Amino acid sequence: MSDRIFNFSAGPAVMPEPVLERARDEMLNFQGSGMSVMEMSHRSPEFEGILARTERGLRQTMGIPDDYAVLFLQGGASLQFSMVPMNLYLLGRPIDVLHTGAWTEKAIEEIKKVAECRLAASTEAEKFRRLPRPDEIEFNPDASYVHICSNNTIFGTQWRSFPDTGEVPLVADMSSDILSRPVDVSKFGLIFAGAQKNIGPAGVTLVVMRKELAERAPASTPTMLKYATHIKNNSLYNTPPTFGIYMIGLVMDWIEAEGGVVAIEERNEAKAKLLYSAIDATEFYTGTVEKQDRSYMNVNFRIQGNNEELEKKFAKEAEAAGLSGLKGHRSVGGLRASIYNAMPLAGVQALVDFMHEFERKNG
Ligand SMILES: *Cc1c(COP(=O)(O)O)cnc(C)c1O
Repeated sequence: MSDRIFNFSAGPAVMPEPVLERARDEMLNFQGSGMSVMEMSHRSPEFEGILARTERGLRQTMGIPDDYAVLFLQGGASLQFSMVPMNLYLLGRPIDVLHTGAWTEKAIEEIKKVAECRLAASTEAEKFRRLPRPDEIEFNPDASYVHICSNNTIFGTQWRSFPDTGEVPLVADMSSDILSRPVDVSKFGLIFAGAQKNIGPAGVTLVVMRKELAERAPASTPTMLKYATHIKNNSLYNTPPTFGIYMIGLVMDWIEAEGGVVAIEERNEAKAKLLYSAIDATEFYTGTVEKQDRSYMNVNFRIQGNNEELEKKFAKEAEAAGLSGLKGHRSVGGLRASIYNAMPLAGVQALVDFMHEFERKNG
């Protein structure tokens, strides 16, 4: 489609074009049902089929073991900052957090409202320009669980491998890199992600959790905020975000058609390398994150001398050239290119070409 731009927005973000096309084709009449998925009862056999299909797709694509539940919730990743401690905190056993920036800051704030919080490591002193090194992390073997953010969308850092937390469940906020690479789900107690960055439209929150952890929640936990409620009712306790669930199913089909998450990772790596090489090839652009911790999803960079005027100009002219959403997060400034699964290599190439041209004119 010639009128589509390259969308580098951090989220809601670019969707795979074949997914949008299929949703369009099925929009008015889903597989002979005579109605749109949006119009269907969540209790209908058609929708139950969609839900089962999406769950199957996720289980296959992500390799989710049978003793894990797959839940489709609402409230965004932000509600998970509260729900996880409300359900998984064990009295007197502080929650360990690996503090790596804005998204763990928000998790910490919510944890503190219902539980005891302890920092297992923090890179705040370095302004989150890197992740904690293994020898800087001190886990408490008695923690209720460990909270980690796998990819910090705002600072542009990403854990290349995950620390071993032993018997203590590892809880990961994977909102901005879920299904961008293979992950051994069995190493995690719980994984959550807002769908709107890598796997679907806004409005659905995916939770993948070891079922037995849901038994920890106190009886006083509000029904809707209890994982056990949603496990027992297969995400159908109340009306779930039906259309979003359908779209995630289509995205899983797309990932499989592309060769699965292994092929997706290869492509993500190639895209990231292309962009980081362009940044490193000149003094005009500078990456803001230490090289070993650079994210393959959110690429943060600045223009010589942190020149805000020039950065503003860059974002504006890029937008006019069909490269949208490159302004950095308001809290950190600079420029940020979010290159999630659905961003094609051609989009990154177009950005790199634009960067060369912009440097030639302004450098
Ligand atoms: C976007 C994002 C969130 C917040 O997600 P909402 O769905 O808007 O609540 C949380 N964590 C990370 C890592 C994110 O990228």
